[in-house]
Amino acid sequence: MTKKQVYNFAPGPAMLPADVLVQVQAEFLDYRGTGMSIVEMSHRSKEFGGIAEESERDLRGLLAIPKNYKILFLQGGATSQFAMAPMNLLASGGTGDYLHTGIWSGKAIDEARRHGKVHIAATSEAQNFMIIPARATWRLSENPAYLYYAANETIGGVEFQTVPEAGEIPLVSDMTSNFLSRHFDVSRFGVIIAGAQKNIGPAGLVVVIIREDLIAKPSEHLPTLYDYAVMAENGSMYNTPSTFGWYVAGLVFKWIRDQGGVAAMERNSIARSDKLYKTIDDSGFYHNPVAPEHRSRMNIPFTLADESLNDAFLKEAKANQLVELKGHRSVGGMRASMYNAMPQAGCDALVEFMLDFEKRHG
Ligand SMILES: *Cc1c(COP(=O)(O)O)cnc(C)c1O
Repeated sequence: MTKKQVYNFAPGPAMLPADVLVQVQAEFLDYRGTGMSIVEMSHRSKEFGGIAEESERDLRGLLAIPKNYKILFLQGGATSQFAMAPMNLLASGGTGDYLHTGIWSGKAIDEARRHGKVHIAATSEAQNFMIIPARATWRLSENPAYLYYAANETIGGVEFQTVPEAGEIPLVSDMTSNFLSRHFDVSRFGVIIAGAQKNIGPAGLVVVIIREDLIAKPSEHLPTLYDYAVMAENGSMYNTPSTFGWYVAGLVFKWIRDQGGVAAMERNSIARSDKLYKTIDDSGFYHNPVAPEHRSRMNIPFTLADESLNDAFLKEAKANQLVELKGHRSVGGMRASMYNAMPQAGCDALVEFMLDFEKRHG
């Protein structure tokens, strides 16, 4: 492997599998004998058509996506879907119910309010977003068009461990930061949103999996690029898609398949996160504030007992090839993001460093 070796704990854009980056490099100048780079190639070409088809087929295989769901490869990141979902799903005047569990669901709520009627079915704001509100406390509206939740709050480090019970109400879920890291049953969802930059590929791309009956007819009122019907009818190629991002996403899907699929990603993420949480909980020096049953496997914020050591921690970590551990500006402290591409060896190296740092400074 020729890639320079640091373990990158960034929340996103984040680490990609080294094997994928090496392959991208190897075929970058001449994509499989075409004499062209992937970034020079028409999205209408036979080659790109093959990339689009295979990536969809591979993703369907990874998640056993039923036939009555469309997969869209759109632009604008996950944030575009904070608007696109309500614009489409509330177009005929319904209410969108939301679970408010942190900063990302909060942003989705703020955006949805610009496009339709929003009802907050539950919020953990009073608990500083350190828990997920118990199902029994949710107050759904009369007849909601959907129930929205962020499956993993990337900043707070809070994750739904199960899919919420919502009966017949279509679930709309932002899975940007835990997509393909755990098993879930696609048929329980109306819309799944997965921005690429955490677990799939380059920033800018967003994968949307949507149940066909939720796709209306093309609308005269929506911006064309924000109309699910138009994008679905045109195979996500109404305009030029993010060809490079889509190509890399396709390689990541194949990489996951070759590693043993989503089940393998889930086993790995349990092993990594268990090890880091245990290190934190066993120490009197590190602390994670999230209720244990709601802790994220992907994003693990933690603080040091003595905050004046933060800079030393980051500096020494970097000297040990452990980078991007600084916590989000709204939370402070540290955050270790360990997505699918993070090797166990990266987690092991972080734990070893943390134990050593505690021994010297704790
Ligand atoms: C990162 C993130 C987003 C935003 O992604 P962009 O690519 O910046 O639009 C949305 N939701 C969650 C849960 C995220 O982690």
